Amino acid sequence: MSRFLSKRLNSLEPYVPGEQPHGKKYLKLNTNESPYPPSPAVLAAKNKEENLQLYPDPDAGLLSEVLAAKYKVNANQIFLGNGSDEVLAFLFQAFCDEDHEICYPDLTYGFYSVFAALFGLKRNEIPLKADFTIDLGDYAFCGKNVLIANPNAPTGLSLKREEIEQILKTNAEHLVIIDEAYIDFGGESSVSLLERYDNLIVVQTFSKSRSLAGARLGYAIASKEIIADLKKLKFSFNPYNINSLSMKAGTAAVLDEEYYCMCCEELIQTREKTKRALRELKFTVTNSDTNFLFAKPDGIKGEEYYLALKRHGILVRHFNTERIRDYVRISIGTPLQMDFFLEETKKILKGSKKMQEVIQK
Ligand SMILES: *Cc1c(COP(=O)(O)O)cnc(C)c1O
Repeated sequence: MSRFLSKRLNSLEPYVPGEQPHGKKYLKLNTNESPYPPSPAVLAAKNKEENLQLYPDPDAGLLSEVLAAKYKVNANQIFLGNGSDEVLAFLFQAFCDEDHEICYPDLTYGFYSVFAALFGLKRNEIPLKADFTIDLGDYAFCGKNVLIANPNAPTGLSLKREEIEQILKTNAEHLVIIDEAYIDFGGESSVSLLERYDNLIVVQTFSKSRSLAGARLGYAIASKEIIADLKKLKFSFNPYNINSLSMKAGTAAVLDEEYYCMCCEELIQTREKTKRALRELKFTVTNSDTNFLFAKPDGIKGEEYYLALKRHGILVRHFNTERIRDYVRISIGTPLQMDFFLEETKKILKGSKKMQEVIQK
């Protein structure tokens, strides 16, 4: 730390992204990226951008329009960000302060508490139940803005649309932000509730189901008044937050629905197959609606399993926090990649069992 850093940031603990290895080649099942490349139409569109000498459209007009058509809303109900992380940061900054606190589950996307700290907000973390589900009663008339990842990460579990509706109904004077980063892999989107609830904000991303994590594109869908507030903030900070290449890529991605549906379908099948195989190996595995599995191995500690996989060339995510220390989060790859993952897992379990037998004698 330099002696120049603002005091306000002294105790800030930044978000820790999953490892992005540079030297050694790993099978990366640790950051929930798509195992599939973007659609060929996306790569072609990106290469056709010829006006890099010009600033990009600060309203992201064309991309907003194709998204609006897809979700049957108006283009002025769409706000684009440099990844949904940036959208979330704008939401915290625009709508939360000491009089408008925000609450979210204790086990959820790690960035929420980082943003709360960055913007000087209280960390109102509401514990999930023992089975990692959300207790809806905790959110009824809670007197705060509510932020829920649906499906949730890293648990993979989702709430039904009518459950989200209950939260909206009982918090009419507060915002309810639903982070739908994983919605295309299962779960019920809340977008259709926008018609009836002006306190709803749905956040989605191109990083997972649309294979564009590197392009940095995310968006919020909400009432035109909320979107106008967000734009006011954005135009006071970074009007050109979306670059022209990503805008072209994103537009082509939304238009090639067929390709992405195919990828999602294959991924869901691979997820279910991997889940069954892990359960046969006595893992505890949640019923995930996402592109990852949240799983607890039998007879070996979560961290030990994570380290063993790493030695076998496979990266998964292990969270060294209290309630989930025994679990790992495994992103779903291609069928071939998951076969390899399962083979190596069997070797690790066998080795660990053998060692325990030897030690006991
Ligand atoms: C991956 C993820 C994001 C961030 O996505 P970007 O658009 O890449 O910034 C947001 N929320 C959740 C729950 C995520 O898992």
